[in-house]
Amino acid sequence: MIYDIIIVGAGPAGLSAGIYALRSGKSALILEAKAYGGQIINTPDIENYPGIKNISGFEFATGLYEQATSLGAEVKYEQVISIEDKGDIKIVGTEENLYECKAVILATGAKNRKLGLEKENELIGYGVSYCATCDGAFYKNKDVAVVGGGNTAIEDALFLTNYCNKVYVIHRRNQFRADPKDVDQLKEKENVEFVMNSTVEKILGDTIVEGIEVKDQNTKEKKTINVSGVFIAVGQEPDNTMFSNLVKLDDSGYIIAKEDCMTNVKGIYTAGDCRTKTVRQLTTAAADGAVAALAACSIID
Ligand code: NAP
Repeated sequence: MIYDIIIVGAGPAGLSAGIYALRSGKSALILEAKAYGGQIINTPDIENYPGIKNISGFEFATGLYEQATSLGAEVKYEQVISIEDKGDIKIVGTEENLYECKAVILATGAKNRKLGLEKENELIGYGVSYCATCDGAFYKNKDVAVVGGGNTAIEDALFLTNYCNKVYVIHRRNQFRADPKDVDQLKEKENVEFVMNSTVEKILGDTIVEGIEVKDQNTKEKKTINVSGVFIAVGQEPDNTMFSNLVKLDDSGYIIAKEDCMTNVKGIYTAGDCRTKTVRQLTTAAADGAVAALAACSIID
């Protein structure tokens, strides 16, 4: 079988692309390495998706998944390891199969950025976490730190204040880039302490996190903060190296595409956080899915 469109990634961009492809009468296979939903599945509360006042990331992603599959999108949990451009036909390889299609949409999202500290990898699951909604409940009545100043960090900190004894928010600047409304809400919490202009220099503890060493960027003074958990929320980075021989990437590894979601290769499109763009939000990911799918449909008979 030759699919009309193969979509790589079942996050908001990929699933939205599936919905638009199916509603245009095309067949679509969505290949996902892990689980549907992408990063949004870890967001406790979405309050900025137009038309929905409040919804959890899991509920949103599940609704999107059900909408795409009920229309007929096929979803397979296989890791894509190769894409070959044969002109009008593209061959997409996974560890299990080879699939043929007329157009590909790359919607691979982004992965959590790491701080790059010694022990950071070693202590994942032993106090180091990148997902407060997944792991927060393990830190009930304990002291934890959240690192970062974006929406994820502030939302994580808000979430953790419900469980933890104390939440330290460590941010490298004196201003947050997160939505001011959420920052104000966090400031109202009694069990939060902001450690501004500071970077985490070390994660302390041999087999389990016992604390962090923090350096004040102004005074250069270092101090230890005793915590059982450190939630790292310092943004995302793309994971597109596998496609570097197929499509053009920018210096940071994002697939180069404008608002039309077209890459430099005919028949290969990109959608969501994996492409070059200025606003990486749920709304723009869903919008990209629609734009990329309709562009792909327009070149298919
Ligand atoms: P982000 O907006 O890129 O913020 C990353 C934060 O980490 C920034 O405050 C940054 O500091 C800091 N940072 C980056 N590298 C660092 C390092 N090496 N050491 C210390 N700090 C570092 O990432 P995000 O919060 O994950 O959000 C990603 C995108 O998703 C954003 O567009 C965000 O708006 C969106 N998002 C939306 C929602 C929502 O709407 N509900 C929820 C979550 C995320 P600087 O500020 O100094 O650069």
